[in-house]
Amino acid sequence: DAEKREQVRKQLEEQGIEFLLAQFIDIHGSPKVKQVPVGCFDDIVEAGAGFAGAAVWGMGQGPESHDLMARADLDTFCQLPWKDNVAIASCNIYVDGVPWPYCPRTNLIRMMDLFACEGYLLNGGFEPEHFLVEKGPDGTLRAWDPQGIDVLSKPCYDFKGMSQTMDYLQDIIRFGNQMGFGIYQSDHEDANGQYEINFGWTNALHTADRLVRFRMLAGQTAAKYGATATFLAKPFDDKTGSGAHLHFHVADARNQENLFPAGSEAENIKGLGLSETAIYYIGGLLKHIGALTAISSPIVNCYRRIQSGEFVYSSASGYTWTPSFASYGDNNRTQLYRCPDNNRVEDRSPSAMVNPYLFMAAHMAAGLDGIKNKIDPGEPIIGENVWNLSYDQRRERGMLLLPQNLLEAIEALEADEVVKSGLGPIADEYIKLKKSEWGEFMKHVTPWEVDRYLTML
Ligand code: GLU
Ligand code: MG
Ligand code: MG
Repeated sequence: DAEKREQVRKQLEEQGIEFLLAQFIDIHGSPKVKQVPVGCFDDIVEAGAGFAGAAVWGMGQGPESHDLMARADLDTFCQLPWKDNVAIASCNIYVDGVPWPYCPRTNLIRMMDLFACEGYLLNGGFEPEHFLVEKGPDGTLRAWDPQGIDVLSKPCYDFKGMSQTMDYLQDIIRFGNQMGFGIYQSDHEDANGQYEINFGWTNALHTADRLVRFRMLAGQTAAKYGATATFLAKPFDDKTGSGAHLHFHVADARNQENLFPAGSEAENIKGLGLSETAIYYIGGLLKHIGALTAISSPIVNCYRRIQSGEFVYSSASGYTWTPSFASYGDNNRTQLYRCPDNNRVEDRSPSAMVNPYLFMAAHMAAGLDGIKNKIDPGEPIIGENVWNLSYDQRRERGMLLLPQNLLEAIEALEADEVVKSGLGPIADEYIKLKKSEWGEFMKHVTPWEVDRYLTML
């Protein structure tokens, strides 16, 4: 540790760092920071930077509580490519010298330790989507459109769509890779002004750090170009939403070996080339999908995104590419859990609004339940467009509709002891907060319902 600390100190010196951002995460996944001069490096590593917990969402504190102390994790110091005299450090929260269980990062570390005790390590990479938007002259939100391309009939991967923001995307890739993200692809997505960036893989903790840093990077870079980057799951009625798919596998905690490929035909129990560990992990995810949805789709707006099948609205391409019910199967994007090959699984459920620390912790809790209790996910769906199945056909095959709104999801979480245990005391805090968000939301009347029903009777 002392050696590592000197190594980091030297690196900061070499990089000409003048300021440090001691950053932690609130319950929503929003980064909170203090800026301190680099001379205080030892302070933020040892004691931490002090915060009033009641000023931050979901930290389990009142105005009378002792300070949250955000202690820098030595493994996470990183120069900000867009502000190169500053280095950011991801912090874990301590109160009175003890790890604080309401800190989402601290809780994830707890869950990773528990997972490791069982012999497992979760590795993965996110595929966040986001929009660049601006307000039009009449104040309405629209896709940022610097070249006036307006509507593309089939926007996905479009050259013109990409070209108008090429400089922005180049900054994102260059800066992201300077921060060690291992970005390997970017494209214009399925809606005007929507982009997707694909990251390299790392363990659950660093993947979560990466997604948060990516959202900071996108926001700051977009502002430089006069646009707003948004991770809102469904900003527009008539455009696809923004997901943050997670590609993942479970590895052996001791030697890092990927446990997902089936070693033999006997182990290939569902014909997908995946091991029993992988299949039972999926079984756990499917069993707990209601509660997991409360985490992967954390705000009321997210439930506009996870609609397809018979609830489909028309997007430019006719599809929204999002799961609306629980299924798993082969290399087929109509599945919630897509299995592109025997090395990994793609979880298509998380929205771009996801708090990755809570999500990873909940994922491991559900997956571990699956592995330990050999939860059978049923038969995979192979080679079929499941969006074309009717509601009844899907029900017959055991595919449950995902919660249709935040309250339904929160109620599923409330009833799910396994997923709640993965969140520690954050679970109750989360349920309370989300119920109040639901209540706030329900106070508002939408233009749609007024138009539709005003003179109906
Ligand atoms: N935009 C889709 C979503 O919200 C995903 C599209 C894709 O397959 O990349 O999940
Ligand atoms: Mg995409
Ligand atoms: Mg994907």
